[in-house]
Amino acid sequence: MPEPVLERAREELLSLGGAGMSVMEMSHRSPEFESVLHKAEAGIRELLGLPANYRVLFTYGGATMQFSMVPMNLLAGGRADYITTGAWGDKAIAEARRFGRVNEIFSTKGSGFRSVPAGEEIVVSADAAYVHYCSNETIDGVEFHYDLDVGGIPAVCDASSNILSRPIDVEKYALIYAGAQKNIGPSGVTVVVVREDLLERIPDGLPLLLDYRTYASTDSMPNTPNTWGIYLIGLVTDWLREQGGLAAMAERNREKAKLLYEAIDASDGFYRGHAERAARSLMNVTFRLPSEELEERFCTEAERRGMSGLRGHRSVGGIRASIYNAFPREGVESLTEFMRDFAATNG
Ligand SMILES: *Cc1c(COP(=O)(O)O)cnc(C)c1O
Repeated sequence: MPEPVLERAREELLSLGGAGMSVMEMSHRSPEFESVLHKAEAGIRELLGLPANYRVLFTYGGATMQFSMVPMNLLAGGRADYITTGAWGDKAIAEARRFGRVNEIFSTKGSGFRSVPAGEEIVVSADAAYVHYCSNETIDGVEFHYDLDVGGIPAVCDASSNILSRPIDVEKYALIYAGAQKNIGPSGVTVVVVREDLLERIPDGLPLLLDYRTYASTDSMPNTPNTWGIYLIGLVTDWLREQGGLAAMAERNREKAKLLYEAIDASDGFYRGHAERAARSLMNVTFRLPSEELEERFCTEAERRGMSGLRGHRSVGGIRASIYNAFPREGVESLTEFMRDFAATNG
């Protein structure tokens, strides 16, 4: 979370805009909360430049529940194509298989999730109900640096860890989903951006809260939503606008990531980046040291300098520096300085 957002939330914690009560105490049906929700939605619409035929929905269950909702709503007895470039995509396709026919048209699992395909390597089935991919694989640190273009087939994208980190050509996407907690707000809210025509193909009979139409027809309030989370999303979108919008964020994110990758590349092989250069993530910088013992020492010494959260995901090990929108450049500079010191004393 950006610090100014947390400060503003603290100021408004007890009373929002003269209402005399906290967002958490308001009825979600009150006009005050309605305007909180509309502000969050408008913020996302404006930042992403959404055309009128796209809806913004706030749902539950994190990105993980979207692994189920996407096939439940969009397979409609057909078959979907999946592209797997990391651990999250792998989970998404495993879940989709529970609901119907799924075709894995590209996977980098065999080579250890280090790369993403070039656009021309993707051959989509002509009859695919949709194509699913993950634009930034958070655990592996590999990112698509382009918007996948699959022609008339609906592209469905898990953008949990790079949404709002750069401008996108939104019309290349039919549905984008993201758990809010990496780049948009706190955990407990999921943002789904969906092109309206997709809502028409949803089969009847789905459980109420697992049907996108339920959210589309109730202003994302089929029942009590995460009011506090939605409020914070609105504040984050304000902050992003003040920062100059997504183009300015993209520039800053590129610079931050560049500092870290330069430190890796200048280390004479002491640090080894996990991702191939062309697929290096600007949000999650993953790398290894010569031994697990050194990786452990690296994390412990970094913590002593006040830098925590550097251990790679438990499933892959190594080091991962997550440098989302809210992470300041100064933090990256401290880390690169530490990396140089550590390599000099341990290399
Ligand atoms: C974190 C993450 C998820 C899982 O998110 P939850 O909201 O915890 O379910 C899924 N996909 C990607 C790309 C992620 O980074």
